[in-house]
Amino acid sequence: MISDTPPIHFRADVLVPAVRAAFDRGHTRPLTWRVAQLQALDRMLVEDADAIHAALQADLGKCAVESRLTETAFLRAEIAHALKHLRRWLRPKRVAIPLSLQPASGRLVPEPLGVVLVIAPWNYPVQLLLAPLIGALAAGNAVVLKPSEVSPNVAATLARLVPRYLDNDAVVLVEGGVAETTALLRQQFDHIFYTGNSTVARVVMAAAAQHLTPVTLELGGKSPLWIDDSVDMTVAARRIAWAKFLNAGQTCVAPDYVLATPAVADTLIAHLRIAIRELYGSDPRTNPEYGRIINDHHVERLLARIDPDRCVIGGGHDAGDRYIAPTVLYPATADDASMQDEIFGPVLPIVPVADAEAALAFIRERPKPLALYAFTSNRTLRQRFIDETSSGALAFDFAVAHLSAPDMPFGGIGNSGMGAYHGEASLRIFSHFKPVMTKPLWPDTLRLIFPPYGKTVERVIDWLLVRG
Ligand code: NAD
Repeated sequence: MISDTPPIHFRADVLVPAVRAAFDRGHTRPLTWRVAQLQALDRMLVEDADAIHAALQADLGKCAVESRLTETAFLRAEIAHALKHLRRWLRPKRVAIPLSLQPASGRLVPEPLGVVLVIAPWNYPVQLLLAPLIGALAAGNAVVLKPSEVSPNVAATLARLVPRYLDNDAVVLVEGGVAETTALLRQQFDHIFYTGNSTVARVVMAAAAQHLTPVTLELGGKSPLWIDDSVDMTVAARRIAWAKFLNAGQTCVAPDYVLATPAVADTLIAHLRIAIRELYGSDPRTNPEYGRIINDHHVERLLARIDPDRCVIGGGHDAGDRYIAPTVLYPATADDASMQDEIFGPVLPIVPVADAEAALAFIRERPKPLALYAFTSNRTLRQRFIDETSSGALAFDFAVAHLSAPDMPFGGIGNSGMGAYHGEASLRIFSHFKPVMTKPLWPDTLRLIFPPYGKTVERVIDWLLVRG
């Protein structure tokens, strides 16, 4: 149910039609406008990088280098990729026309959808608001942006910067929480792009259904990681530790839990202990490169998932500082608190299983994850992961970084979401590829299938349509 709380500081029924009017004026369609907006966004990420990084530091304790890696530079790479390929992506694509319709020509011509709404979460609050914006602008849409109120410093910073760089008629940022989002969702959009949890996704989808608005839902869930003894444990542990403890574990594609045999688990734990020290030192709390939990509510939620009896690494915390140490739980079971829903924090349970067969069964029995990771050099087993599991993405021998390859569409499947973006896939989400067909008046071959029907028409249908 959508809450009935009245909107606080703006009129959605005035704002959205105004943005639509800009779109209807054809404002956003020219390639020059799209390129200029993407370049302006890039300038914002360069000229105001310090302000953006400071906001990320305030909200998530994220250091500037990590912010650059996962937010501003990430976005700049997406922009550069879009600017490099945009003309080619927008070129109408010729399609083959069957003999039955010849002579004729067909093209798929991309057109913008109209006004799109982008709703972002708090964990990568810059990247996840602006990466969909890149696709929406490249496709020539007008956009309403709704940053997360849970990361208030980033929301306020972007609310200040976006109007300074982007076309104010066609790109509007609305700050606020549930009331503001609810008010926006009552309006008609041409696409809604939502990133966040699956409970709110249902609210978004129900609201979109009222207007038959298509949605992209970028959700989360528990992303499993299998590891066996065929890999170099030192490198594997370092990669796992980085992927899990980046942004203090608040990453939608972070490995949520590990599946391993007891023998491999023992070796992995020993190597993880070393890797965590290598990455964050002996006291991550004092290391400015280790992040913080977004708020007190999430600190409490995470502490309830740490079973002190199973803590083999970490477990320490300082609630006042929103700090939770990189923590590994072993042996975890499917019934543990840490295994009930997505952890979304620096806590890594390791679930012992008998073998790879048991791991595959464990994964298949659960909802389709956003990402699945397998650390193994066994080629037969790798193929089994490809053939016998379903997930938003599958990565071998590394984790998380797969989403920075712009030609690999990023998105979930089943419970982890619908629709995928990045690179050209973003343009596709925010475009309609309109089939445009042209047939000369002469020769008038269509006449062959017009009434009066008879044996000849039947033969033509059979010959041209079925065999042709
Ligand atoms: P959040 O609480 O910031 O919510 C996301 C957005 O939904 C916010 O803009 C918020 O204002 C809005 N919202 C919240 N309640 C609402 C309501 N009742 N009605 C309308 N709008 C509402 O973020 P979150 O959901 O805690 O984000 C974390 C989740 O997002 C995790 O499950 C994570 O895995 C997932 N996630 C997925 C991706 C991805 O790309 N697939 C990326 C990051 C996070």
